[in-house]
Amino acid sequence: MPALPLWLPSLCGTLIALSFAIYCWRGRPWRSWRYTALFGGSVAWWCAGQFGWYLTEDLDARLWMGRLQYLAITSAPVLWLMVALDYTGRRAWLAGWRRLALLAIPAATLVLVFTNEWHGLIWQRFDPIPGQARVAIRYGAWFAVHAGYSYLLVVAASTMLAVRFATSSLYRPSVVAVLMAPVLILVANLLHVLDPSRMPIDPTPTSLAVGFALMVWAISRHQLFHLLPVARGVTVESLSEGVVVVDPAGRVVDANPAAVALLGPVQPVGARLEELLGPVDLAATEGRDVEVGSGRRVELRVSPVRDDGGAAAGHVLLLRDVTAERAAQEALQAAYRELERLANTDPLTGLANRRQLMSRLDDEWARATRHGRPLAVILLDVDHFKRVNDERGHLTGDRVLERLGRELLRERRPGDVAARYGGEELAVLLPDTDRAAARQVALRLWGALRAVEQTDETGAAFRVTLSLGVAAAEATDGAPRDLLARADAALYAVKGGGRDGVAVADGERLERVAARA
Ligand code: GH3
Ligand code: MG
Ligand code: MG
Repeated sequence: MPALPLWLPSLCGTLIALSFAIYCWRGRPWRSWRYTALFGGSVAWWCAGQFGWYLTEDLDARLWMGRLQYLAITSAPVLWLMVALDYTGRRAWLAGWRRLALLAIPAATLVLVFTNEWHGLIWQRFDPIPGQARVAIRYGAWFAVHAGYSYLLVVAASTMLAVRFATSSLYRPSVVAVLMAPVLILVANLLHVLDPSRMPIDPTPTSLAVGFALMVWAISRHQLFHLLPVARGVTVESLSEGVVVVDPAGRVVDANPAAVALLGPVQPVGARLEELLGPVDLAATEGRDVEVGSGRRVELRVSPVRDDGGAAAGHVLLLRDVTAERAAQEALQAAYRELERLANTDPLTGLANRRQLMSRLDDEWARATRHGRPLAVILLDVDHFKRVNDERGHLTGDRVLERLGRELLRERRPGDVAARYGGEELAVLLPDTDRAAARQVALRLWGALRAVEQTDETGAAFRVTLSLGVAAAEATDGAPRDLLARADAALYAVKGGGRDGVAVADGERLERVAARA
């Protein structure tokens, strides 16, 4: 396998550092973009300087390239530190005498590099090795100061960034990347400085380019996730729903503006949840309504919060103001109930109408046949009602029906259905009632209704009588209408017998149980 050309790593390093630096300079992806781009530029310069060595064999030219490289060698570690100081918010270090202090050693080094031939403090030997790209170097006394200082800056910068990223486990890859960079660089640099003959080239610039790329990646990644909590915070603040965070002890630790408005006048943060909402079962996570301090009705949703280790860390409560919604729902339900009542009620008498009677009869019939329970009906017809209309007027006729309806409602037993069957015919449905009991009820109703004193438009008092037919469900009845037909037959038997009385159907037989004296 042919060996990789020695100029390749430095060329790659140049291109990597340069492209990342341009990306930062043009894209301004985060606050410290200026320092980051300068750091990248410096690394690219260093790598380019090394690449330049392969373009010439001339010792003087190489010496000059080496000197020019020191522009980067001295500035790269400081710029790295500046990125870290700026990114972690330590901006006071980047102004005034502190910045000058940071630059003191690099500046001194640079001056010594360009005056080295007079004192040899940076290098004492700089000899070409025939056939090789590198030179044999013996470093001077100041070089150790420069190198030690550079290591210190690199380690400090990486540590600062790592600590900043370590605030959440989300950023673990960033921490690893930013700590890997100095290890890589220091190992490469130490190997080279301690024994330059070990390697054909100095690996420091290329490793620095890789370290720089790792740092940019780590910060980009941090920025990406760093935005999430910020974006979420903004969302929560602007939500029209209230958001309340409670700790495991049930104390409110955070509340967004909507929650503060809903829960007022008490300041929610710091308060106990019961003080704000009354007793709340946080284990019940489905929505339910509570009344809050502001008098508003609030629908509550509870979500438990767990920490990284899965331990209970409190709850998030979502509060939705449902005051208007619930009022509208209640009005709608009331309107619906009223509509249903109207649809089932006879407007003149207030009794159930025929529709409701038939529907209840069907229901009770089904129940009675299923459970073998008794069921009875009473039909009531006003005697000679036409005469009332004819002699006292239709309005009086209406008033009579109205009075009879009121009376029937008062007299009927709870659970019985009193209805207007049609015209001046009334009906009572008696669930769970056998023939004997129905007969008793019919007699009582007959007596009560015929005793009601009516008045006509002239103020004259009169009474009306009624004929009642009673039937109880029997095994031979195949449908509700059979029961009604037998009650009707009983009613007409009373009519035929002179009216004003009660008859009970007993199979095909009819029993006259009461009649006008
Ligand atoms: P019978 O004793 O045989 O029942 O004689 P009747 O006059 O009551 O005869 P029928 O039951 O056939 O007539 C009922 C009358 O009731 C006919 C109708 O004019 C009258 N009527 C029905 N509904 C109303 C109502 O809402 N108001 C008034 N004022 N009259 C009604
Ligand atoms: Mg009639
Ligand atoms: Mg009648």
